[in-house]
Amino acid sequence: MITRLTYEQISAAVQDAYDGCKSIKGGQNAHYIPYLANVNPGLFGISLCLPDGRTISVGDTVYRFGIESVSKVPTAILAMQQAGAQAVLEDIGADATGLPFDSIFAILLENDRPSTPLVNAGAIAACSMVQPKGNAEGKWAAILNNMTALMGSEPVLIDELYRSEAATNFSNRSIAWLLREYNRLYDDPEMSLDLYTRQCSLGVTAEQLAIAAATIADDGVNPITKKRAFSAELAPKVVALMSAVGFYEHSGDWLYATGLPAKTGVGGAIIGVMPGLFGVCAFAPPLDESGNSVKAQAALKHLMKTLQLNVFSNTHFDIA
Ligand code: GLN
Repeated sequence: MITRLTYEQISAAVQDAYDGCKSIKGGQNAHYIPYLANVNPGLFGISLCLPDGRTISVGDTVYRFGIESVSKVPTAILAMQQAGAQAVLEDIGADATGLPFDSIFAILLENDRPSTPLVNAGAIAACSMVQPKGNAEGKWAAILNNMTALMGSEPVLIDELYRSEAATNFSNRSIAWLLREYNRLYDDPEMSLDLYTRQCSLGVTAEQLAIAAATIADDGVNPITKKRAFSAELAPKVVALMSAVGFYEHSGDWLYATGLPAKTGVGGAIIGVMPGLFGVCAFAPPLDESGNSVKAQAALKHLMKTLQLNVFSNTHFDIA
């Protein structure tokens, strides 16, 4: 069955999700990264981008916040693009861990593998895979260029956030060295950890992340610049990674409830990808106990329900 959605319907649904969720209370800013603890908890925005480049934005969608774990998606794409999808599967994995994002136990359980580039261990491993090997500045440039291609504009490092994270990332340092012990890091551990920490500290807006999500929904072509950011055959694999572990130990619950492949970050952003239809980002800093934005989750749930969308449904949509 094919159902036609109009731009007006989608716009109204975004506005409705914003209005319906803006007074939701609950949750707390990430407290373990000092910079994030001090961000205004009242910020809230939703931005949605269609494959033809039309964008719908409501609320605080040009506020620059820390991308945090949403950065794991672009760098997974970069590693897949540079080394191939099969190499990422073999060297990192594509499995859900069923455990929190920074779990060391997950590394031990998964026979020494980082499981997926979308948890901390796999994301540090993905940074270690990025080319040119051994060249921190070259790797950082590749990470930035890739993110810029996905978003159609540059991210900006939030220096204070970077310093705040670098001074407190003891558990990520343990993860990096444990992976090194298992030969699951493919470059210098401290360099890989630093690249991961820096990429998490990049400042982006909800509008930029919605465009990046729409680039994934559009099989790798950026809907604003119209340029190809990555090969089309990688897009379903990226959506598969997001579906499997985008919400860490709650990924199944999230997919069951919303039918939206999505990825969260402790900066308060969640990106969602409906292949062929749109990319979306909701942003609000207070998080639940697993590190997922309370209001952004509610907003995306609201949106999917209003539009009656579900990635697993046999109803196919197009946009008029
Ligand atoms: N930089 C954060 C960390 O490594 C990112 C975590 C997240 O967003 N879930 O702990």
